[in-house]
Amino acid sequence: MTFTNIYSIIALGEIMERIILHVDVNNAFLSWTAVHKLECGETFDIRTVPSIIGGDESQRHGIVLAKSMPAKALGIVTAEPICYAKRKCKNLLVFPADFSVYKKYSYDVYNILSTYTDKIERFSIDECFLDMTNSLMGRGILDIAKEISDRIAKELKFTVNIGVAHNKLLAKMASDFQKPNKIHTLLSKQEVEEKMWGLPVIELFMVGKNSINKLNDMGIKTIGDLAKTDPKILTKRFGKFGLMMYNYANGIDDSEINYQKHIPKRNWKRNNIISRLK
Ligand SMILES: [Mg+2]
Repeated sequence: MTFTNIYSIIALGEIMERIILHVDVNNAFLSWTAVHKLECGETFDIRTVPSIIGGDESQRHGIVLAKSMPAKALGIVTAEPICYAKRKCKNLLVFPADFSVYKKYSYDVYNILSTYTDKIERFSIDECFLDMTNSLMGRGILDIAKEISDRIAKELKFTVNIGVAHNKLLAKMASDFQKPNKIHTLLSKQEVEEKMWGLPVIELFMVGKNSINKLNDMGIKTIGDLAKTDPKILTKRFGKFGLMMYNYANGIDDSEINYQKHIPKRNWKRNNIISRLK
C-alpha cells in the first residue's frame, strides 16, 4: 500500500458519516409479560385489556411500572401507586415484574440484531444501539430497519421502535418519536430542526427535572430555544453539562458505540425501573 492510499483511506474515514440505529422495545415489561403468558397457554392477550405490571404490592410502595393501552385510556399512569390505579379500574389485572423472563426476551432481540452487525451496545434491558456503518452490504438502512422491525414482530410477537441517525443521540431521540411499531429518522440538520426543535426541552436526552426549572427561568422552553442559546451562557450556568445540552439540542454527539457482547454488569433491574420513572 502506498502512502497515497493510506492517506486517502484516512480521509475517507473522516468524511464518512456513521449510520446508527437505536432499537427500543415498545412497552417492554408489559409486552414481554403478555408474550410469556401466551406462550404458557394463556387464552387472551393482556395487552388488549386493562392491565399493568406492578411493583411488589405487599410493599407499601407498590407502583405501576408499565400499563396496557386500555389501562392508559382509563387514565392509569406509570409510577402511580397500584391502589390508585385500581380505583380507576375495578377489573384491572396486575402482574408482577419477572426479570428472568425479561432477560430471555432481551436476548432474543439481541440475537436477531446480531445477525446484522456485531457492533451492538446494549443500552438497557430493552434498548440497543447498532453501528451499521460498515454492515450495510449494499442495502439501504431504512430497508434494513424495516426488516429488523418486521422480524422482531413476526418471530418474537412484540414490536419495537427504531431510530435511524448518524449518531447515538439522534438515533435515541428518533426512536422516541411516535410509538408503537414505528421507524423514524433524524439524518439531517433540517430533520433535527423540523422534528426536534419544537419539542419541550424536557424531551431532550439527559435533560432532567433538576435542569428544567433553571432552563425555563432563562426563557428556554423548547429544544430549539436551547439550540439557539449562546453556549457561553449555558456553560456559565451549568458548567460542562451546559455545553453538552447545547450540542445535543443541535444534534451533535461524537460518542462511540460501546460494543458489549455480554450483559452489562450494572443492575438492569434497578436502572430500568429508575429510567422508566423519570
Ligand atoms: Mg422501551
